Amino acid sequence: MRYWFCVLFIISMQNTYANMNYQIVVNKELTQLDVKICSDEKLANQYALGRSRASKNIKDLKLKNATNINHDLKLYRGGLYLSDTSVGDCISYKINLTKFLVDDNKTVLIDNRDWLLYPKTRQQVTVKFDFENPNHQISTPWPKADDKNLDYILPRYPKNQSSKTVIGKIHLELVTIKNAILEIALIGTQNTLRLNEYIKWIKDTADVLDTHTGLFPQRPVQIILAATGSEREPVPWAEVQRGGGVSVHFYVDEFRDINTFYQDWTAIHELSHLYLPNLKTEDLWLSEGLATYYQVVLRSKAKITTSSEGWEKLLSGFNRGKRANNGLNLRQTNATQHYYWGGTAYFFMADVALRTQTNQTLFSVMNQFVNCCVNELEQWSAERFTTKLDSLSQTTIFRELLEQEALARSFPNVDPILAKLGVTQSFWGSIRINDEQGHEMRDQIMAP
Ligand SMILES: [Zn+2]
Repeated sequence: MRYWFCVLFIISMQNTYANMNYQIVVNKELTQLDVKICSDEKLANQYALGRSRASKNIKDLKLKNATNINHDLKLYRGGLYLSDTSVGDCISYKINLTKFLVDDNKTVLIDNRDWLLYPKTRQQVTVKFDFENPNHQISTPWPKADDKNLDYILPRYPKNQSSKTVIGKIHLELVTIKNAILEIALIGTQNTLRLNEYIKWIKDTADVLDTHTGLFPQRPVQIILAATGSEREPVPWAEVQRGGGVSVHFYVDEFRDINTFYQDWTAIHELSHLYLPNLKTEDLWLSEGLATYYQVVLRSKAKITTSSEGWEKLLSGFNRGKRANNGLNLRQTNATQHYYWGGTAYFFMADVALRTQTNQTLFSVMNQFVNCCVNELEQWSAERFTTKLDSLSQTTIFRELLEQEALARSFPNVDPILAKLGVTQSFWGSIRINDEQGHEMRDQIMAP
C-alpha cells in the first residue's frame, strides 16, 4: 500500500506546476500598493505591462535574494527581463494609488493594466491581498483560489484588455442566477435603500435574460456599479471588460427614481454581451449587433415596451444604420450606428432564418454556444464564431449571412425579411404593420 501511495504521490507532483505568488499589501490610507512576487521555484524571466504608460506607475522595482540583498531593476520596452535568478529570489515594487482614488478618496478604482507585471510562465500565479485597514474590501474579476482568503488566481487572459480592481469602502453583494455568480461591487453611495434598489435592478435584469432567452450565461461575472451625481441619463456610461474574466462596469445616476433604470435599455444590453466570446476588434459589430437585438426583443418580451414599439425600434434603428453607412462593410466601418444596427440586422435575419428553416431560435443557438464555448481566453474572428454557430445549429445560416449580407454589402438587405413579416414603412418613414402578414413569426420574435 505504502509503495503505491508513493508512486501516486510522485506522479501527482510531476503534474503540478510550481506556484508564483503575488503578495499585495494595501496601506491604510489607500495611497500605496506594495507588491512582492515570489515563487516556489525560480521566478519567471519575463514580465509584461498591460500598457506601456503603466511604467510611470511602477516605483522602487527591485530584486531581493534569499540573503536580503537588493538589486535595482529597470523596465525595458514595456517589460521586465530577468536572467540568472535563483530559487528564493523575489521581485518587489510599489504603486502610488493617489491618482486612482475616487469617491472622496474612500475607494481605489484601478485598471489592472496600470499596476500589474504579467509574468510569462507556466507556473500557476496566485495573487493575495492584505489590508492594513481591516474595513477595506476588494473586488477583482479573477477567480478566487479559495473562498475565505483574498487569494485569486491570475487568469491567462489577454493582458492588453481592460479589467478593474476596486479596493476600499465597497458594498459587496453576491447574486446568483442558477449557478452563475454575479459579484456586485457598489461604490459611491452608502445609502442602504439605494444600494438595495441597485442590486435588485441588476438581479431583475439578469432574470429577464434568464426567463426569456431560456438561459442566463452560467459564468462568474464581476459587476462594478459606480454611483455618480446627477446625470443626463440613468446610466450615462457602461461597458463590458474582458481582461481578467468577464466584467460589466456601470456608472449610474445616484438620485434618479429606480423605475427609470428599469425603463433604460443599458443593463439588458450590457448583460447580453455575456453570451458572446472575446471577439476581434474588427468584428465587434457582431457583439454590438447581438446585444442590440437582444435589448430590443427582450424588453418587448418582458413588457417594458410593447411589441409594436419593438418593431418600431428595429425599423428606426435599421434606418439610422443605413443613413450612417459610408459604402464600407460592417467589418470596415467605424460609424457607430452603422455597425450597431447592421449587426442587429444580421442577427435578426439569422433568427428569422432559424425559425423558418429549423425548429431552433437565435436564443437556443446562442445558449448552446454559451454552454460549450464562451470564455475570454482567446479572440474569435467572425469566421470562426459563425462557423461554430453553424455547427451547433447544423445549418449554414450564420456563415452565409456573414459572407453575403455582412461582408459583401454595406448594410444587410433586411427590408424583404421585414416585409415578409408584415413590417414596412410609409414614404414618410413611419412604421406599418400588416396584421394579416407574418403575424405568427412576428409574435414568436417580439411578443411576451
Ligand atoms: Zn454594447
